[in-house]
Order: sequence, then structure tokens, then C-alpha cells
Amino acid sequence: MRVMVTGGAGFIGSALVRHLVQTRGDTVLNLDKLTYAGNLASLNCVAGRENYRFVRADICDRAAMAEAFAQFRPDRVMHLAAESHVDRSITGAGDFIATNVVGTFTLLEVARDYWQRLPATERDRFRFLHVSTDEVYGSLGDEGLFEETTPYDPSSPYSASKAASDHLVKAWYRTYGLPVVVSNCSNNYGPYHFPEKLIPLTILNALEGRRLPVYGRGENVRDWLYVDDHARALECIASRGRLGETYNVGGRNERRNIDVVRRICMILDAMAPGPVPRERLIEFVEDRPGHDARYAIDASKLESELGWQAQETFETGISRTVRWYIDNEWWWRPLRARYEGERLGLMQEVA
Ligand code: NAD
Repeated sequence: MRVMVTGGAGFIGSALVRHLVQTRGDTVLNLDKLTYAGNLASLNCVAGRENYRFVRADICDRAAMAEAFAQFRPDRVMHLAAESHVDRSITGAGDFIATNVVGTFTLLEVARDYWQRLPATERDRFRFLHVSTDEVYGSLGDEGLFEETTPYDPSSPYSASKAASDHLVKAWYRTYGLPVVVSNCSNNYGPYHFPEKLIPLTILNALEGRRLPVYGRGENVRDWLYVDDHARALECIASRGRLGETYNVGGRNERRNIDVVRRICMILDAMAPGPVPRERLIEFVEDRPGHDARYAIDASKLESELGWQAQETFETGISRTVRWYIDNEWWWRPLRARYEGERLGLMQEVA
């Protein structure tokens, strides 16, 4: 299989590329602009492999996209490139509209042109997977789960831009017949996660004895999925998902943010004891505007139709993740240094 992955240098994209290249033996073109969130060091283990290529390009650049399709001739596109940080979308939404909305539109147009020109046999094989978030559904109360039929009700500029891109992708299916599938996933965590997001930020601040900022009273609930489980789900949906359909992806791991932070403190105290119990570093900070109260995913369609199951529980996944950050300072130390003072330690991402 020849797979074009957009955003393959990001957190989830790099997990997907490692899975496709190393475990499945697919031939992968990683197409990434390398914004602050893109990091080729996350792909050291596949760099130099015959079945892996990288092109630095912006998905908004139509000529560059057309060139990449013509040269690589993908059987499949897995579209992950996006601006993904909710706090950044609140302080500056422009990049989110450009990449998530205009970039997805550009990619759809180039993919449509490419797909329409393919010989019939290859045209039948082609698929375009659009990777999205459960945040498009808005916020839940204490009860209920997001289903594929839940109406869209996004709260932040980030989730609104992702909602717009989901609608575009579905319109390209209904209007032009482009063979698309859409996935909407809950919060991911795991190795190689950029240290501005809640879990890596908490692990690294706690390791270094710094304060652990928690929005509001930490009551917001997120449904956590280990990133390698998401990568397997994406491959499954791209291969066997029904065209034009949406599949929700989640791990049935609802946790309040404060409980996530406390659990990380406990694990770190056991793995790498510090001078004081890490929980003492927790500091409640002013809540994010428009902060969704609860996300929780019903993934039963993906489980029953396509046979996917999460392999990690939150307990096993979070322990592996903490261990990985302890053992891989080479990866995160340069990022911490580069973004020191800009956001780290002040901002956190819980979406
Ligand atoms: P990320 O921010 O870690 O990575 C995004 C990648 O896209 C980076 O490598 C960046 O360089 C690249 N990129 C950004 N703009 C680009 C452009 N214009 N052209 C080409 N490349 C560009 O994001 P992530 O957390 O890995 O998320 C990947 C996808 O999964 C996103 O579409 C996101 O909406 C979705 N998603 C994320 C989560 C999560 O918990 N992180 C959950 C559900 C869905």
C-alpha cells in the first residue's frame, strides 16, 4: 500500500507513520510543513528506511500538493495535518482557519483531481481518511456519550475549524463521490507528545519540580486514548471503514483532569522520587474561556463493525508514558528549551 500521511511529523501522525512503516511495511510519504508542532526526531527510527519518504510542504500550497500526488501516486491519503492546540486557537485563530479549513479544502481538490484521473482499477482502491476530533460535538453533561449521530456543536476556534473541515470532507463525498472516511477521536496521550499539552506538561514540570497548572478546579472530564491504539484504529478505518461514514474512536477511559494530574504525580513519586511529594506542586489557575465540561466517546461502531479494541487501559498507558519521558530526555529537552517562557509552565492543553 502506498500511503500519503499529512502531518506525519506531529504527535499522532508520527505514531501512525511508525506503525505503517515498521509494523505493516507500507510505503509512506510523510508530507508535513514542520510547524512548531512537527518534529522529525520523532521519526528517527524510520528515517533512512526504503519504504519511508519525507517532503516538507504546506497543505495550503496547491501546486506542491499536486506535485506530491503526481510523484508518489498514493493508494491512500491519511490526513492529519492540522493546527491542534486549543489555547493557541483562542489567542490566534488565523492559522487554524488557514490549515484546518483552507488546507483541507486544497487537499480535497487535489485528491479529487488525482482520483478522477486514475485508471478504473486504481480508482476503486483509492481512499481518503480525514482524521478529526470529538471536540466537534461540543460538551456533554454528566451523562451520555458522543455517538456518530451527535449533532455538531463546537466551542473553540480549533473545534469549529475541525468541524468545518469534517463538513467539507463529507460534501466532497456526497457531491463528487470522492471515497472518504472520517474518524473522530477523543484525547490522545503517549510518547512524543509536544510538551504544551496537559499530560506531557505535567510529567515534565513534575520531573523538574515546577508548578503543575490545572485549569479551574480540574473538574473537566476527558476520555483518554493511548496514541498507538489510535494509530491502529486509523489504519483499520482507512482499510475497512465504509465509504462516506464516520467512526468514533475512544478508549472508555474517562478521567477528571485533576485525577490525571494526581495519578502522574503518584507514578513519578514511585519511579523517580523527588524531594517533596509531587501533588504539592499542583496549582489551580483561571479557567479557559469556553472550556468544555466533559467529552466521552461511544466507540461501539468501530469495535463491532471493524473489530478494533484498545489494547492499553489508562493505567497501563499512563505508566508507559511516564516511563518514556523519564527515559527520553534527548527528545523533549530541546523542545523545553526552545519554548521556555513562551507557553510552557504557563499554559496547558486539556482538549
Ligand atoms: P500535532 O499538532 O502534534 O501535529 C500536527 C502536524 O501537522 C505537525 O507535524 C505540523 O507540522 C503539521 N502541520 C500543521 N500545519 C500544516 C500545514 N499547513 N501543512 C502541512 N503540515 C502541517 O497534532 P496531533 O495531536 O498529532 O493531531 C493530529 C490530527 O489528529 C489533527 O488533525 C487533530 O485535529 C486530530 N486529533 C488530535 C487529537 C489529540 O488528542 N491530539 C485527538 C483527536 C483528533
